[in-house]
Amino acid sequence: MSTVPVGDQGIPVEVMLRQAGLRRRRGELVALQLQAQQRNWERIFDTIVRVDGPLAKDIAEITGLGGSTVTGVLQRMEEKNLITREPVASDGSKRVGRSARVRVVAGRHYLAGVEIRRDGLTGLIVDLRGEPVGEPRELALAPVRGPMDVDLLVDGVRDLVDELTLSLRALRDDAQAPLLGLGVELGGHIDGRSGEVVCSPDLQWGEHWAIPRVPLRRLLRAATRLHTVVDNDANALGTAQRWFGAARNEDSFLMVLVTRDGVGACEFRDGQPHRGATGKAGELGHVVAVPGGEPCRCGNRGCVEAVATMSAIVKAADAKDLAEARTRAADRDAGARKAFVDAGTALGRGLASMITCIDPAKIIFTGDAVTASESDAQRLVLYSDDYHEAMLRAVDEYTVFSGPPPGSFLLIQDREHWNGPRGAATMVIRDVIAGAVDVGATAER
Ligand SMILES: [Zn+2]
Repeated sequence: MSTVPVGDQGIPVEVMLRQAGLRRRRGELVALQLQAQQRNWERIFDTIVRVDGPLAKDIAEITGLGGSTVTGVLQRMEEKNLITREPVASDGSKRVGRSARVRVVAGRHYLAGVEIRRDGLTGLIVDLRGEPVGEPRELALAPVRGPMDVDLLVDGVRDLVDELTLSLRALRDDAQAPLLGLGVELGGHIDGRSGEVVCSPDLQWGEHWAIPRVPLRRLLRAATRLHTVVDNDANALGTAQRWFGAARNEDSFLMVLVTRDGVGACEFRDGQPHRGATGKAGELGHVVAVPGGEPCRCGNRGCVEAVATMSAIVKAADAKDLAEARTRAADRDAGARKAFVDAGTALGRGLASMITCIDPAKIIFTGDAVTASESDAQRLVLYSDDYHEAMLRAVDEYTVFSGPPPGSFLLIQDREHWNGPRGAATMVIRDVIAGAVDVGATAER
């Protein structure tokens, strides 16, 4: 009598298990190969966008990929109309070879980017190089008390995207001029993989307000019929800086967003935003700087954004608004100056912890808090001279071994909020490159 357990098809169970194991391993291998392939495409495309007309050999040198890999990917990208290759040869021959400048196709594919804030939306169309096409557009949202209405917000984004589409068609004099996709960014804990908003203190979405996990990507996809990406604002802003801004040549940097009441951050590793397991990596705003301090919008106390932003400064200075606090501090009012110094010190402490942990080459600041210095209108500071200097002092004091090297702090003013939507749209370009958007079958609108 046989003692070998046999499965339904008469195959010994042990053999079936071995076969299943092989299949799984083969599946894992295919998935890993696909991932590596996507990463190569991204690195190559990223290089083409950042370097003006590189040759194939420049791309190979910058990315460290083999010449044949680069040539193969370039060929596929050209077939998909993502890039063009312009022969450099002076004899005008059309021979496409090693001496062709590679450029991203500009006037064919378009993407929309939208920044979501409690008070309104800013939208922008960009081309495949991330270059703005036309002007950004604003849509004000009616003030609400308490949590933002989900349907109202989705309708607002849809209306803005419709407006952007019409403006694109008028600008290109092309009734088709289709959008490949929509990128949306907002502050808070966003699960970029599922496109769900886990927690947004600005919109008051999250468990704390009994609105857990808003499936924003799914809702916007249904409303706009566009491939949609939803991500954190600091991730989008960092992506904009990495593609078109101060971080063009930086693989490792820290993007810090300081707004009127929020602080966000995103670490870029190897040129990519690091999101963490669930999308909340880099939540500098909710690192505790003053245990038991002021209540934070997240429900905790003493978080960086609760003690280092406008409301904390105004309250501590006993002023009616930030402008009054700044004027009084400039007039050497001791209470007002202390309010700025304490707040700046709190941000510096939080930042020092992050700098110690990730050791970035550059720290780039943006957001409403970036303003001209009182003593030198050409110089940018966060909130005020007192605040900024206190922040720098605390970073120096609390970063282990030594503070960041001189010149590693950069401030960017983005009063019109261009960079947010631009970065958000760029996130969709990443999906186009990764093959998640079929460039041949753009959704008809
Ligand atoms: Zn918090």
